[in-house]
Amino acid sequence: MKNDCIFCAIAAGEIPCFKVYEDDVVLAYLDINPCTKGHTLVIPKAHSAGLLDTPPDALKEIVARVQKVAAHVKEVLGCDGFNILQNNGEAAGQSVFHLHFHIVPRYKDGPSLTFQSRKGDMAALAALGERLRF
Ligand code: 5GP
Ligand code: ZN
Repeated sequence: MKNDCIFCAIAAGEIPCFKVYEDDVVLAYLDINPCTKGHTLVIPKAHSAGLLDTPPDALKEIVARVQKVAAHVKEVLGCDGFNILQNNGEAAGQSVFHLHFHIVPRYKDGPSLTFQSRKGDMAALAALGERLRF
């Protein structure tokens, strides 16, 4: 547990939450500022700041829970789809530096939430693909 971490405090029961699911690995609860009805956060009980400092074996366990909670939320709310969002770094919109996965239920008649995309430059994409391939 990290002292100044709000999600560690929630996991420890020191700050209340609207709990959806809990086991030995994760806690899932409603986001206090929901994007859509049923917006749920899944956090590991063990603190890590984000994706890159979480051990791969722990991630497997956590993501299996994300799948389980998402299936449950979808079944209960009857949403038409859902997004999984996991922000890393301030530039990516991360505001709480304890790993968490957003489950954002989506409804056909709900608000549109999209990343803006632009038509790619094929030469630039080819060069970038070359640079990134490993
Ligand atoms: P991030 O922007 O870091 O990906 O997401 C953090 C999320 O945590 C935000 O959507 C925010 O609404 C939510 N959040 C922040 N503080 C609390 C809290 O004390 N309780 C709950 N339930 N959600 C919180
Ligand atoms: Zn924490």
